[in-house]
Amino acid sequence: MLSDKERKVLDLIDQNRGEIIEYLRKLINFKTITPDKGCKAESDDYKDLQDLIRMTLEELNFDIDVWEIDSSELKNFPGSGIMHDRDLSNMPVLVGKLGGKDQGKSLILNGHYDVVPAGIIENWKHHPFKGEIEDNKIFGRGTNDMKGGIAAMVQATKIILKSGVELKGDLLVQTVPEEETTCMGTLSCCQKGYTADAAIIPEPTDMKVLVAVRGNLYGKITVLGRAGHAEMPQPHWTEGGAVNAISKAKKIIEALEELTEEWRTRPNTQHKYLHPDAIIPTVIRGGEWPVTYPEKVEIQFGTMFVPNTKNKLEEIEEKLKSVANNDSWLKAHPPILEVLDEWVYGAEVDENEPIVKLGLEVLKDLGFETALRGYGTLTDCVHLINCAKIPTISIGPDIKTAHMADEYVEIEQLIDTTKALALAIMRWCG
Ligand SMILES: [Zn+2]
Repeated sequence: MLSDKERKVLDLIDQNRGEIIEYLRKLINFKTITPDKGCKAESDDYKDLQDLIRMTLEELNFDIDVWEIDSSELKNFPGSGIMHDRDLSNMPVLVGKLGGKDQGKSLILNGHYDVVPAGIIENWKHHPFKGEIEDNKIFGRGTNDMKGGIAAMVQATKIILKSGVELKGDLLVQTVPEEETTCMGTLSCCQKGYTADAAIIPEPTDMKVLVAVRGNLYGKITVLGRAGHAEMPQPHWTEGGAVNAISKAKKIIEALEELTEEWRTRPNTQHKYLHPDAIIPTVIRGGEWPVTYPEKVEIQFGTMFVPNTKNKLEEIEEKLKSVANNDSWLKAHPPILEVLDEWVYGAEVDENEPIVKLGLEVLKDLGFETALRGYGTLTDCVHLINCAKIPTISIGPDIKTAHMADEYVEIEQLIDTTKALALAIMRWCG
């Protein structure tokens, strides 16, 4: 049930639709693309975006902390996903803090401002960085994932405070880079000691409450063969004959598929809100010359797994060993397993946590059919939950156009997200 005070704030959000839309369009204008591996941010767009948010929050009397992350100084731990050699200069992190007026519960609102590249521009009907409006939708890279969420959380905060509501608990607003690659932006906030009784990340969630995400590990398996003339008869490999690395790689791929099949039903790879664990071959390279037996095949893979999974790598290693044990060449020339990036843990928040109940409650009060859900892919919640031990949920718009050409957010959902966050802030922080 909505109180009079809450109704007033929701009305104000409706009256300020234009400002919320314009704020998102400004955020879209900044080209804050997450740099490729080995590259760094070159433009001022990242800093300029943070400047806009800083100014908005300063007007509301927030204390602001802005810094650049030195990835070599982040503390490593299993599942951290840290890339210590990544250059994160020019991509500042911002934390704004508004001290509560009393002993109320504290809340973090967290949003990532980095976006994935626009991709093939010809596939866009709308400009990816102009925030064009058509059919009650705002188009542009990040409208959905997740500058729409950032606009909603900043504007919800502004409208609440401008309406004269005083919060009893601390409110922290975090805008971070790097979610699309390493999650080191939020990790840096956690390692700097920023904490609260709960957190909300307005990632797109189809107006449901996100409570679980899978972790991941990316790796490479190198399968060796032995070169030789493909048109000539070849003796057994023990007599010096050629060995086709593609044929051997086929056995490895089948083994990975067997693992996925096994994980589909194994009890410890299941989760109420998540797809079971899987391992997917994603890149394959092998062979050099049409008339030569291929001597090497590289298979890259991604494996996704439910929270609390340990030692996924060991299990893959065991499987490779069992394949090799049944093949004399592979036994003598075992496949080489390498990890490409530091693995990242999954995360989940208990359904009975007050912030989960609050998320469901505000959506219900706004007229939504409520539900809990999980994602196969992770978000910054992994560090808020596992590293900072903060119960964290996500609530946001429809996810269907995230990372696509002509990404958009429905204006109605942008406004609804703003309303959901406004209610959550008022009820949580008192
Ligand atoms: Zn996102």
